[in-house]
Amino acid sequence: MSTLSLDPGADQLAVRDWLHGFAADVMRPAAAEWDEREETPWPIIQEAARLGIYSLDFYAQQYFDPSGVGIPIAMEELFWGDAGIGLAIVGTTLAAVAVLANGTDEQIGTWAPQMFGTPDDVKVAAFCSSEPDAGSDVSALRTRAVYDEAKDEWVLNGTKTWATNGGIASVHVVVATVDPALGARGQASFVVPPGTPGLSQGQKFKKHGIRASHTAEVVLDGVRVPGHCLLGGREKLDERLARARERAAQGIGGGPGKGGPGKGGSGGNAAMATFEASRPAVGAQAIGIARAAYEVALDYARTRVQFGRPIIDNQGVAFTLADMKTRIDAARLLVWRASWMAANNQPFTSAEGSMSKLYAGETAKWVTAQAMQILGGNGFTREYPVERMHRDSAIYSIFEGTSEIQRLVIARTISGVPIR
Ligand SMILES: Cc1cc2nc3c(=O)[nH]c(=O)nc-3n(C[C@H](O)[C@H](O)[C@H](O)COP(=O)(O)OP(=O)(O)OC[C@H]3O[C@@H](n4cnc5c(N)ncnc54)[C@H](O)[C@@H]3O)c2cc1C
Repeated sequence: MSTLSLDPGADQLAVRDWLHGFAADVMRPAAAEWDEREETPWPIIQEAARLGIYSLDFYAQQYFDPSGVGIPIAMEELFWGDAGIGLAIVGTTLAAVAVLANGTDEQIGTWAPQMFGTPDDVKVAAFCSSEPDAGSDVSALRTRAVYDEAKDEWVLNGTKTWATNGGIASVHVVVATVDPALGARGQASFVVPPGTPGLSQGQKFKKHGIRASHTAEVVLDGVRVPGHCLLGGREKLDERLARARERAAQGIGGGPGKGGPGKGGSGGNAAMATFEASRPAVGAQAIGIARAAYEVALDYARTRVQFGRPIIDNQGVAFTLADMKTRIDAARLLVWRASWMAANNQPFTSAEGSMSKLYAGETAKWVTAQAMQILGGNGFTREYPVERMHRDSAIYSIFEGTSEIQRLVIARTISGVPIR
């Protein structure tokens, strides 16, 4: 176990500075344009790939950093640059984490590189769990996976919604139910290889924020994938289903809500393993947005003169900035703690992963709203970036488990009471 230190070390600081340069020089100048276009910024993803920022190697290196803060530092810097472009760049990692969390070594080796492609032929990947009638309640998924023994193939049918990179991805990771009677415990994750017939994009959503990130429905109509596309393999699934059936027979149920308590692991459910592993990283993205808005507001407050003095001379403004900075730093400490715990196999006994995502997400919404207020009329226009940052921040109390679901998970974990 590594000793607790809040010094990320020279290597991590060098990565941070490198990413900061890319965020400042490449992402920031392009942010407003791609927000307006509401399209995937392929040239920027390609540039990130050329520099090694969009690559499996880079994320694997950060993911396996023993302190745990490699990923949060990377996320914070990229999302400081711009959240929409940031999500277009890192959206693939959600699918990659699903494969890392649930796949065999062979599956990781086969599929993870295909998710990123190469700098000359860049690809993205999508993680498809949510459905029209199954958002927070992951146990309600209807997409079915049925095994065709004769052909050693799984047949997938259903409609996924809200999939980041859905339909434009090379590899789609799809969570489907194998045994509906078992709810969340009867689910498994499947890789749908590039070009598989039967998978198509449904509607593409027009969004309030993170508009450079593609979000769409994914329709699965008789999609056939080879047996080896079941993440984790058949034997592991059969063992898991047998345990779940035993628990069901004894009347022991699993609760609703995205991501139950536990350490960085799954608690036996495919979608939840992905959410658990990614929660502090998502919190770090929110911190990047909040820090960006705070910096704009601080600069503005120093230079904007009203009543013959800079507006920061007023306690009402200065104290708001003090609170913004304090909350951002508090959120980062929660994210780093959860990331350190996960990297060092410490159980999340108080749902620390959920705490970090909850607080960071709410902080980003609050801080960006304060930044708009400090910029006055300018804050309300697209001439300044804080209104975009505020729109972008709003997703952080919704995706990867809403704030209410995070509170539910925390409340249940600290109390042991099956709170509804
Ligand atoms: C831009 C975007 C990108 C996304 N990307 C992906 C992706 O890549 N892959 C993927 O699988 N999903 C993705 N999602 C889906 C996202 O995770 C869901 O939107 C989220 O989990 C909430 O589900 P829902 O929208 O169905 O809301 P609902 O679950 O219907 O919730 C509606 C409201 O009810 C509240 N609520 C529900 N249950 C409870 C409860 N028990 N107690 C208290 N309050 C409750 C919620 O907190 C919320 O406020 C994305 C969503 C968006 C908007």
